[in-house]
Amino acid sequence: MHNHIDFETRYVMCVDIDKCTGCGACMVSCQAENNIAPMEDGSNKLKTLTWMLVYELNNGKNFPDREVAYLPRPCMQCENPACVPVCPVVATAKDEEGGIVSQIYPRCIGCRYCMAACPYHARYFGWFDPKWPEGMDKTLSPMTSTRPRGVVEKCNFCHTRLMNARQRARQEGVDPLKMPEDWYQPACVESCPSGAITFGDINNPEHKVHELAHSKYAFRLLEKLGMDPQVYYISRREWVRKQADHHTAEEKH
Ligand code: SF4
Ligand code: SF4
Repeated sequence: MHNHIDFETRYVMCVDIDKCTGCGACMVSCQAENNIAPMEDGSNKLKTLTWMLVYELNNGKNFPDREVAYLPRPCMQCENPACVPVCPVVATAKDEEGGIVSQIYPRCIGCRYCMAACPYHARYFGWFDPKWPEGMDKTLSPMTSTRPRGVVEKCNFCHTRLMNARQRARQEGVDPLKMPEDWYQPACVESCPSGAITFGDINNPEHKVHELAHSKYAFRLLEKLGMDPQVYYISRREWVRKQADHHTAEEKH
């Protein structure tokens, strides 16, 4: 369960929860970048596609002691992803360089085993063919393929942006495994008005995440499952950090 493959580059995200205001800009930019069509009934949370989803947390107290926090949740690109070995047709895989967990839509048969296996609820099934209101189809991103109904999709750290950055590296004679941090940034990171999300290669000391991920206030979600998620959160508030692992009263933190 705890096999750790040390890739030369390992892209990680660090989300500073104390900076996140819950504005949802990351969710909107993700939908636009990845060509996720608006749903007819956006209130149907079981059938909407939200590769990036912002959750609201609270400290369980009443006014005036109540505090809230917001937790943006992309796919964790786990080092030991539960979703990958359950796929009967190898439609999802852990990349050998970069560590991103891919999703290969033409191979996916829509069995949804991977959705059942993912403890972070990061995968979504396409219940409907994507449709854009007239005129809005002109805003489609040429970088990302659309998906038909009947397959599973999820955040891939805007993988096409990584492909573009690697292409640029080849053209400019830069080692694609040692690219400058700003060459490859997912859409949610760029759109966050609070600068709450930082992204880069944790193995590159010149990338900010190299230090941020080792902050004493850094934590990850459900670490005790041993899936080694590649999204780190930071909060100086102890009650926020304690919510990350769902410890029961009898368990030691
Ligand atoms: S968060 Fe879920 S979908 Fe993403 S890699 Fe981990 S198990 Fe797979
Ligand atoms: S839904 Fe698709 S990706 Fe998920 S396990 Fe089934 S075939 Fe594989």
